[in-house]
Amino acid sequence: MPDPTTRTRLPADLAIVNCTALLGVGAERATFAPGATIEINGGRFTRIDPHPDGLPHAKQVIDARGMVAMPGLINTHTHAAMTFLRGAAEDVALAHWFNDYIWPMEVNFAERDVYLGTLVAIAEMIECGVTTFADHYFHMDQAAQAVLESGIRANLGAAFFSSQGPDGLTQSLSFAERWKNAADGRITTSVAPHAPYTVSDADLTAAAEGARRLGVRVHLHAAEDIVQTNASLRDRGRTPIQVLAETGVLDAGAIIAHGNGILADDIALLSQHRGRVGVTHGPKGYLKFAFGPLTPIAALRAAGVPVGYCTDGPASNNTLDILEAMRVTAITQKQVTDDPTWFRTGMALEIAGPGSAAVLGMSGEIGVLRLGARADLILVDVSGFHCQPLHNLAAALVYSVQPGDVRTTIVEGQLLMHDRQLLTINRDALLDEFRHRAREITDRTHGRTIQDYTQ
Ligand SMILES: [Zn+2]
Repeated sequence: MPDPTTRTRLPADLAIVNCTALLGVGAERATFAPGATIEINGGRFTRIDPHPDGLPHAKQVIDARGMVAMPGLINTHTHAAMTFLRGAAEDVALAHWFNDYIWPMEVNFAERDVYLGTLVAIAEMIECGVTTFADHYFHMDQAAQAVLESGIRANLGAAFFSSQGPDGLTQSLSFAERWKNAADGRITTSVAPHAPYTVSDADLTAAAEGARRLGVRVHLHAAEDIVQTNASLRDRGRTPIQVLAETGVLDAGAIIAHGNGILADDIALLSQHRGRVGVTHGPKGYLKFAFGPLTPIAALRAAGVPVGYCTDGPASNNTLDILEAMRVTAITQKQVTDDPTWFRTGMALEIAGPGSAAVLGMSGEIGVLRLGARADLILVDVSGFHCQPLHNLAAALVYSVQPGDVRTTIVEGQLLMHDRQLLTINRDALLDEFRHRAREITDRTHGRTIQDYTQ
């Protein structure tokens, strides 16, 4: 006999049954509900039931036995189209990396390349469970097109340098206005100056005013490492974070990458604006560049400043794998604080969900399995040898799971990958064109560059 209560109710768009749902995360522990049912309707979670009674009433039902259902992962800072430059500049210091490899190669990017490179990045992110990314690059109408077609969620910012003249800032503002809340809110935007060392105080001030007017954040690099902070103190008498405070960027709201050079005094400034600023952290690239101190995550969190995970661009990080960013953050933060009892698995997962959502100004909307939140969810298979036995499920997610264990990726209730099959991207056609252009883009014989890195 069917449950009589279901006969009068319209079916849900999608139901996931028999999953172990990650329902709560905190600094000390994570809470899981085995055997849960999750229903999605109109792109939102409409039922999260840890003790379901009978089968759900839904148009499509996924049996997720042996899998963890958790919020889709959030990459809070990347340059997606730099997939083209993955592995093209290795074993060099930061200034050499920019001046002799990256900025000369970026001269070769045509508009369509940003579409292709971003779509490859999106395919990789869907495969490793990322459902939202914050992107910071050029020709961003092309990136937006890739986001539209693929079904992923993104916060997009059109990057600019002051060396471009007034056009850079104007384009960044008009892009943020044009695409704000596009695709039924799946696309949000930021104003995206490159960094305080490449953008003038006047342009930062104008970017902050524009962001405030549009109701979006400023997404930029700042205090990336201690060398930048020391150079700013030497040349301007202020730290990069002080520059952001004085130009109104912190007041407007800011997504700050990467903050390894944040000083103790800066944290008080950031704390004054903690409801609208966040710091994004992607340690793999910092370790490759042999940066000295790492982002002071303990002090930032103690001051109430949200911290999120990122991969930065694949030219420095080589992957767009947020599981890896979470893992490397956890182990390096234990090491830098000399405290193996800190950065517990619950905190690692909390930063992956609510923490990263807060950095993007999307608290409660993404990064949580909660009624009414946007239905961005992944199913992770924890039955593999490398996860067994499951003495500690949170530890399996933080320290054992591999990107290939992500079986299914859902954004706004839409299946983007199911049973490892990409459903919105044609893999073979995309890779053919991408590999062909990658050979041309890495040509540096023209001797030109888009910008100089001087510190
Ligand atoms: Zn970056």
